[in-house]
Amino acid sequence: MTEKLYYQNSHLFTFDALVLDCRAEKKGWSVVLDRSCFFPEGGGQPADTGIIASARVWDVHERAGEIRHYTDAPLTVGETVRGSVDAEQRLRRMQNHSGEHILSGLVHSAFGYDNVGFHMGADCMIIDFSGELSWEQLMELETQVNAVIRDNLPLHIWFPSGEELQTLAYRSKLELTENVRIVEIPGVDRCACCAPHVERTGEVGLLKILDSQRHRGGQRVSVICGMDALEDYRLRQESVTDISRALSAKRDEVTRAVQRIQLEQQGMKERCDALSLALIRYMAEAEAETAGNIILFDAVLGEIAQRELVNLLMEKAGGLAAVFCGSEEKGWRYIIGSRSLDLRALTKSVNAAIDGRGGGTPQMIQGSARAGADKIRDGLNSLCAK
Ligand SMILES: [Zn+2]
Repeated sequence: MTEKLYYQNSHLFTFDALVLDCRAEKKGWSVVLDRSCFFPEGGGQPADTGIIASARVWDVHERAGEIRHYTDAPLTVGETVRGSVDAEQRLRRMQNHSGEHILSGLVHSAFGYDNVGFHMGADCMIIDFSGELSWEQLMELETQVNAVIRDNLPLHIWFPSGEELQTLAYRSKLELTENVRIVEIPGVDRCACCAPHVERTGEVGLLKILDSQRHRGGQRVSVICGMDALEDYRLRQESVTDISRALSAKRDEVTRAVQRIQLEQQGMKERCDALSLALIRYMAEAEAETAGNIILFDAVLGEIAQRELVNLLMEKAGGLAAVFCGSEEKGWRYIIGSRSLDLRALTKSVNAAIDGRGGGTPQMIQGSARAGADKIRDGLNSLCAK
């Protein structure tokens, strides 16, 4: 059994210990000490990382009360070594995890919902509650959580006896009857949990709900706490500042500024569509009626205008009515129509002639082409000259 120092003091990050075992693994080595501050993965909280002697600890697991530290170098059995946990990472995880307990406790007492899924990710925590919560309810809960943080309540953590446990009401995911560790936030929450926690709620600093969506009949909520929340705030503040500068709008008015731009953009798109339709009418009128092909190249037309132009040109061309949009450098998007030829039968030879790919109906085919304009014109004219 390894002595679990993180249960005695969740803020002890450096310790001395005796190496009891060291064995080679598929990747690196695994080391057992007589005591450890390294928390193994559990209760939704990832394993600590850090250093023992000069070996890097990249993972920690617990098996039958024994804590195995996975290292990138071997240690000598019988030696006393110094271990250091990555304190910043652990402190942040404790801020998040204890914040999660406060929120889950408040949700449980106000709505009776359970926390049925908990994941501590790299960006934020994901918590699944067993019932639906509206955004307004979540914002009210967020305020209450932060009031609990401000109240700076001391956490009470202990292993109750079997008898005491029977009379104790607490949240739990597992039906354990012995060695149950209870994490209590007085008046807020009592929950079975094996992870290290902050000493007082004030240490959580801040809890912010980022997002929420319905999930399997309940609510999935993204939450962030403490230093991670500060970093997230910084990122968001920088984004809003950049947007407000770009739009010349005050920071609390960027949403309205973006909505105004969207409206303007919609108006411009409608105007652009109308101008395109007027333009293609002129383009079609400029073409003389012919028993042969009409082949046009254009740099600006959108797909709807391109198709409409082909429709107009089909009235004037006895052979192919072809419109290529794009450029020699970037290639072409083509639409070809005909009122006399079976284009589906011609698709293969058309694509071969213009270095293209595409297909369609007997009346109209479309696709892309990589050949230059001259090669396309010559290729199509030699294919269906009239
Ligand atoms: Zn927990």
